[in-house]
Amino acid sequence: MLDLMLGGSPFVTSLGEVHRLNSDAILNTAPCTCGQPILSCPFWNEVEEHVIANQSGSVTGRPLENMDMMIRKDDCRGLCNALERIVLLLGSQWIYEQWHRLLAPAGHKQALVNSFIWYDAVRETSGRPVVVDSSKDARRLGLLYRHAQMTGADIRLVFLVRDGRGVAASAMRREGIPMATAAKQWAQVVRKTQLTLKSIGTDNYLTVKYEDLCTDTQNELERICAHLGIPYNPQMQVLDKSNAHIIGGNPMRFRKAETVIKRDEGWRKHLSANELREFKDIAGTEATLLGYTV
Ligand SMILES: [Zn+2]
Repeated sequence: MLDLMLGGSPFVTSLGEVHRLNSDAILNTAPCTCGQPILSCPFWNEVEEHVIANQSGSVTGRPLENMDMMIRKDDCRGLCNALERIVLLLGSQWIYEQWHRLLAPAGHKQALVNSFIWYDAVRETSGRPVVVDSSKDARRLGLLYRHAQMTGADIRLVFLVRDGRGVAASAMRREGIPMATAAKQWAQVVRKTQLTLKSIGTDNYLTVKYEDLCTDTQNELERICAHLGIPYNPQMQVLDKSNAHIIGGNPMRFRKAETVIKRDEGWRKHLSANELREFKDIAGTEATLLGYTV
């Protein structure tokens, strides 16, 4: 939803979980928000042409198929994995840069370089200066942040949180999993993201609550816009999906008629007392840390 809101600004292009661009394009498992398979989407085809032009002859094949932005576990296992984790947790830019120069796995370095190549091409295609990447991968977030500090790229972070009971209820419905699994998954994502953000420093990101965004929309959007350095635009309160080319994410992005911001509190009706208790036992600590009373 925040993707769509931000994409309503004439300064922003929202890309959604764009680290899935290549795998979704190749496997054709999920279309672009415009409804087209990614390989035939006019927007992504134009972005791809900019990528090819900017790489001046060094590209072989289709970038939509082979210029991956995903941080893959297979590229960094065992000791490499442990070291990369420590380097990020230490939160030292100098140590990160030594790691990047001497030991970082080639696949991860390439995914970071590719990410910024795609962001630049999106900016050229859209004529909009800000690109929003809402890929859900805490390690990639940490690596992108450090990489941007190293190269001088301007990167601004927004930590969007939601009551875990709402997130768990959606996962249970969508994936057919029990509360125990959904609560564990949510708590794990929160822990990993908080560790990454801690290493980045509290002054360097903005926390926004989904519930506040739905009920105090203008104030929250103004706060986000100030953080991003762009003017607030009332059009951001209309969830216009007609021009969006978002990758992955909530199925709501395809429901073109749904243009009004609505706080989804369905979990209050759908979760049983037992399930709520289970959530509290498993993920209560993480929920409390985010400011929710469970
Ligand atoms: Zn599209």
